[in-house]
Amino acid sequence: MSAPLLQMPLRVERDIFVLRQRGREVAAVVGLEHQDQVRLATALSEVARDLLLTVGGADVVFAVTGTADGQRHLWVDLAPVGPLPDGRYEPQSGAVARLVDRLSVVAIDGDTVVRMSRRVPVTAQAFTPERLAELRAQLDTSAPGTVEEELATQNSQLITALDEVRSQRDELARLNEELEQTNRGVLALYHQLTDELEETNRGVVALYAELDEKSAQLRAASESKTRFLANVSHELRAPVTAIIGLARLLNDSASDPLTEEQERQVGLIRSSASDLLTLVNELLDLAKAESGRIEPEWAEVDLRTVFGQLRGTLRALRTGPEVDLVVEDPAPPATVRTDEVLLAQVLRNLLHNGLKFTARGEVRLRAERRAGTWRLSVSDTGPGIPAEQHERVFEEFYQVPGPTRVGGTGLGLPYARRLVTLLGGTLEMASESGRGSTFTVSLPADGT
Ligand code: ADP
Repeated sequence: MSAPLLQMPLRVERDIFVLRQRGREVAAVVGLEHQDQVRLATALSEVARDLLLTVGGADVVFAVTGTADGQRHLWVDLAPVGPLPDGRYEPQSGAVARLVDRLSVVAIDGDTVVRMSRRVPVTAQAFTPERLAELRAQLDTSAPGTVEEELATQNSQLITALDEVRSQRDELARLNEELEQTNRGVLALYHQLTDELEETNRGVVALYAELDEKSAQLRAASESKTRFLANVSHELRAPVTAIIGLARLLNDSASDPLTEEQERQVGLIRSSASDLLTLVNELLDLAKAESGRIEPEWAEVDLRTVFGQLRGTLRALRTGPEVDLVVEDPAPPATVRTDEVLLAQVLRNLLHNGLKFTARGEVRLRAERRAGTWRLSVSDTGPGIPAEQHERVFEEFYQVPGPTRVGGTGLGLPYARRLVTLLGGTLEMASESGRGSTFTVSLPADGT
């Protein structure tokens, strides 16, 4: 601790006022802020009153120090003139200790001293020996005021403090009000969001219920359509076959001869009945596939065998010499786990379409293996299919309108797609008007 800035005795009640006043002055000259000056002066007068009453007074010393961490403090030591009861000191008011940074009883050279300190702000001037001498001189010149003056100062400080407390309380009330308003806003928003969410939820639940109901209706409709198709086709097959047989009998050379016109008409009956039988058979196939009654017979199938058989059976179908049927031989090993009969049926159907719609050029079947997938493609140089019809040709009974229509039922492609799906694969088409078509069956090589 540096040499004292100021010393003074505390013996009579008037000294309390002087001490309070001097305390404020010292605090001011070392650079404490106004609030801290009042706090220190108040704490000092409280402790001084206690000591005067209990031990009859004290010798008071003001000093400043700097600590290792660069902080500086203003210290006030009050050395009691008599021994403190039990060597201890407790301020009458517990709040006093809170007015300063430190208030304690310490032993200095065997004497017990009540010490209090307050930190000096970093902005205050450095305490060089010259500065300290200057402060001492400044304090020496100021004469202590009267008790009345000190009372008046204390009063005005009290008023300022009260004012401050009131404005702080007002500020707190304002902040509280603001907080409450914000809270109310947040709550309202929360309720609104919860309501909206609930409403949306209710909507979604209703929508799902409706969707469930619609899909159940759809399923039921599709099942009854399949049942109807199966029954009607089945019932039609026998009479249609009978008509074909009878027409053949009428035309037979063993029967009574017909006139030329009768022969033509019987021929018409026969070909119409044949068309009808084709339609009935295709309808039956499709109904069977849709009702899930087709169970693939899985086996390790050699694609070269399938391709060989297709080459043989379709050669007879070729429409004219201007169309080449090219069935490429897949490179060995060309095995795929699938149902041989169903796969051959699909490829025959696609090749058949290619040959049916292509007037010149070629129809080509090739197989290509990429990673774990076989891609079997049937491409032709036929009229192609306009982009907007691409998905429609997979619908039942749909045929692309226009001059390219060459008979048929419109059931081949939907049936082929059903079968490929059953085999765990996909049937896709790439085509452009006037540039031919390519139908590709993709199948997992191992059947899974
Ligand atoms: P169908 O051949 O019995 O008419 P599909 O379901 O096999 O029935 O084919 C549906 C329609 O798709 C055909 O009517 C035809 O308009 C079109 N189509 C199918 N394959 C080809 C093709 N290779 N080239 C051009 N159009 C085709």
